[in-house]
Amino acid sequence: MPFALPHQAVAAVSRREDGVLRLHSADIDGGVTELRVADLTPESDKSWTAYPAGVVWALREAGHEITGADVHLASTVPAGAGLSSSAALEVVLALALNDLYGLGLRGWQLARLCQRAENVYVGAPVGIMDQTASACCEEGHALFLDTRDLSQRQIPFDLAAEGLRLLVVDTRVKHSHSEGEYGKRRAGCEKGAALLGVDALRDVPYDGLDAALERLADDEEVLRLVRHVVTEDQRVERVVSLLESGETRAIGPVLVEGHASLRDDFRISCPELDLTVDTALKAGALGARMTGGGFGGSAIVLVEIADVDAVTEAVQEAFAAAGFTAPRVFEAVASAGARRLR
Ligand code: ADP
Ligand code: MG
Repeated sequence: MPFALPHQAVAAVSRREDGVLRLHSADIDGGVTELRVADLTPESDKSWTAYPAGVVWALREAGHEITGADVHLASTVPAGAGLSSSAALEVVLALALNDLYGLGLRGWQLARLCQRAENVYVGAPVGIMDQTASACCEEGHALFLDTRDLSQRQIPFDLAAEGLRLLVVDTRVKHSHSEGEYGKRRAGCEKGAALLGVDALRDVPYDGLDAALERLADDEEVLRLVRHVVTEDQRVERVVSLLESGETRAIGPVLVEGHASLRDDFRISCPELDLTVDTALKAGALGARMTGGGFGGSAIVLVEIADVDAVTEAVQEAFAAAGFTAPRVFEAVASAGARRLR
């Protein structure tokens, strides 16, 4: 259940008819990259241009006649902080091309093409959540997304109206083993599903969890992964029903449970994220948990407005005392996803 940050990736795009794709980013040194749309080849590009080029490739591969574009990008989404700057970049370009070329694709369809761009062209095995969040989120709402059938529901998430704030703490670390670890988690979950005879772990009902865990008693590692996924799905459902019934403060403990499960069962946290969560809670936060792919990146912290400064200072002091790089702390307001500005 993602929501969109107020940060924006912005694209200024014009059509070309000569098969040329020109890419420029205000945030990267290196000038304009010029490519031919007919020559775009998956996994041929290890630089940032693979993300926008991948979007053009994916659109063309899906049969949409994109004959070129001039693309200028600029983004305030922190890159590599676990906040999906890559999805923001992909989706804003896909939306612009959808408009310029009159493709008539819906948000969820653009999200799927962007995921394909990242999976196949960039070569990163990401899911569909981030792209869907960038394409489909609405202001003041979180997005309850079923990644199996892409069905979605907007869930009220207007914290300011309730006297609350959600802080993002970007730990500014990314531990180098994260990619290999992602593959291991994924393989472990697939093994768990196979052992339990289901297509995916989401098919294990929460009230069947104990029985499922008994069947996995011989494989402690898989058992922990399964326990995380099944309880996490249940936590999402709890948060949805709490938000829909206006009990926003009550999601705090659910966030904390989620962090414990990510730390102890899924084991993708790290000392910086754990310190953030522990310190924020001690300083009065209602809830906190890591977000994103783990092993660094960011945590989210739910606080009363009156406690924002105390919690922020406590986290900054704890990082300094531990000798960690100073974290970046900012407020996250559930914002609108990609749209045409002009
Ligand atoms: P995340 O999506 O969590 O921020 P990724 O590693 O998936 O991390 O994506 C970050 C990459 O996206 C950067 O290394 C860069 O290649 C690209 N990127 C992000 N923002 C920009 C930008 N403003 N201009 C150019 N490339 C960008
Ligand atoms: Mg990314």
